[in-house]
Amino acid sequence: TEEILRKAEKLSLVGELAAGIAHEIRNPLTTIKGFVQLLRKSHEETKLLYADTILEEIDRINFIVSEFMVFAKPHANYYTECDVCEILQSVIKLLEAEAALKDVILHHEIPQIRKKIRGEKNQLKQVFLNIIKNGIEALPLGGQVRINAHNTHSEMVITIQDNGVGMNENQIHKLGEPFYTTKPSGNGLGLMVSYKIIQNHNGNIRVKSEVNQGTIFQLSFPLIR
Ligand code: ADP
Ligand code: MG
Repeated sequence: TEEILRKAEKLSLVGELAAGIAHEIRNPLTTIKGFVQLLRKSHEETKLLYADTILEEIDRINFIVSEFMVFAKPHANYYTECDVCEILQSVIKLLEAEAALKDVILHHEIPQIRKKIRGEKNQLKQVFLNIIKNGIEALPLGGQVRINAHNTHSEMVITIQDNGVGMNENQIHKLGEPFYTTKPSGNGLGLMVSYKIIQNHNGNIRVKSEVNQGTIFQLSFPLIR
């Protein structure tokens, strides 16, 4: 009976997920349909405006669909030896301007570590990008995001800490659920995708947070021996 129960649980999760995806895709499709109808009877100048809106909405659908691609079979054969420190540096560089614009300082102490992990570089990049971005977004009045990396004998450990809005128990519990977001223009897919990528890499993620104090995400990945 236990097995049956678990299957039923899984099925209801799939149902919730399907409903979320359907909703997220139907919204832009509705917009596209409306604008195509307008396009048919509009003048040259307005056509361009409508076309741009349509393209934006198509991009949104594309984005949602591609985020779910990490749930397709992981391509273990695309995995190479990855230098986590180098990947982190490149992500920090990418985010520095955006952070500065929001009065956020990215502190980082990332030593050169020779040891590597097995993984897909672009997916690891996506994980770090998502989590550091969330840190920046948790600081509406500015502040600091600290990024550190070190290794133990068997693992690469990365911590990303902000002194931002923080979360209560209930919010921490919801992290990684598809479409869970508290941001007006968030999509609630960043952590879901990050958790899946970390799992595919045999890694671990831990979260500690306190309301109005801040949040620490600790990630670890097995080193190649
Ligand atoms: P999004 O960023 O689009 O909202 P995410 O999956 O990246 O989606 O994050 C989901 C939610 O988790 C956020 O809306 C926010 O409520 C919460 N969250 C994530 N990271 C942090 C953080 N560093 N500090 C406070 N809340 C966070
Ligand atoms: Mg996010």
